[in-house]
Amino acid sequence: HSRDFDDDNDPGRVRVAVRLRPRNAEDLSEADFADCVELHPELKRLKLRKNNWNSESYKFDEVFTETASQKRVYEVVAKPVVESVLSGYNGTVMAYGQTGTGKTFTLGRLSKDDASERGIMVRAVEDILSNISLADTVEVSYLQLYMESIQDLLAPEKTNIPINEDHKTGEVSLPGTVTVKVRDLDQFLELLQIGEANRHSANTNLNTESSRSHAILMVFIRRSVPEIVEDDISSQDMKTKSNFPLVRKSKLLIVDLAGSERLDKSGSEGILLEEAKFINLSLTSLGKCINALAENSPHIPTRDSKLTRLLRDSFGGSARTSLIITIGPSSRHHAETTSTIMFGQRAMKIVNMVKLKEE
Ligand code: ADP
Repeated sequence: HSRDFDDDNDPGRVRVAVRLRPRNAEDLSEADFADCVELHPELKRLKLRKNNWNSESYKFDEVFTETASQKRVYEVVAKPVVESVLSGYNGTVMAYGQTGTGKTFTLGRLSKDDASERGIMVRAVEDILSNISLADTVEVSYLQLYMESIQDLLAPEKTNIPINEDHKTGEVSLPGTVTVKVRDLDQFLELLQIGEANRHSANTNLNTESSRSHAILMVFIRRSVPEIVEDDISSQDMKTKSNFPLVRKSKLLIVDLAGSERLDKSGSEGILLEEAKFINLSLTSLGKCINALAENSPHIPTRDSKLTRLLRDSFGGSARTSLIITIGPSSRHHAETTSTIMFGQRAMKIVNMVKLKEE
């Protein structure tokens, strides 16, 4: 049966969309270019060519062709998550795929001049700012996770930031990270630009590429909840209540994951196998958690990596999660495209996900 992307019956289910990048110069220069996928957006299906005679069809919550606009991708994939964050739940939007397939284009694109080109990070903050009242606050942190070390992209001297988990509430926090209050969209665009510049120079210093690290934007919302005055409440209680208005806190995580390509295969120069495993530990661990959740396993290995620890209170349970998987069209990347599609298919199976369980 068909399910809508924003199907409220099962808020814990991970929604998965696939987005195809348009052909780039490299694809166009291939003498023997062949598409490895065929998209059927009206059926929300994607056909993956296995060989000349055979193909397999996969169903997603949404299938975006190479002409899908940034606006439409935001509205389908991220808006339902943003709405749920505005009503007090945590939420996550993640992009997964091979380097060069459009993760950063989809999530992080700033495009100061042409607003129609902006990605999910900017649109989400814009949407939040226009839906809150004066008494509410929006704050952001911007981080990079590389080789299991968290670095603050708004204060790059802060590295090796620890993750704190409140065992009573299950709340995950990063003590010491800079959080900046967002006043308006222009100021947020500046912040994002500073973060991008810091990411670039940090990676130059580390002699690595941005594609090997995860970029994580955290948006914290604090909203004053209108008081509910009950009949049987005494005037004294009401007075106490109005002195301490209820505040509802929620957070949105937007995660631009490291490139999903295997680093241990030939072609990734200068990387030892052990190093490659470590660079991708968080991504591997996310894959393991998704598999365990898809199989309804009683043991979800969230403690194995920083990424999965960070996601613990924003993924599953009452939190709403969207995953966008990005692919390129060329058959030359058939193996990587296949593994990305399989990752997305496993995430689709996470139905009725319960809160990530402690080990
Ligand atoms: P990734 O983050 O997955 O490594 P990028 O987002 O950097 O990939 O995209 C690689 C290149 O492809 C960039 O030049 C980007 O502008 C372009 N690109 C990606 N997706 C699209 C799209 N949907 N439409 C137009 N250009 C795109």
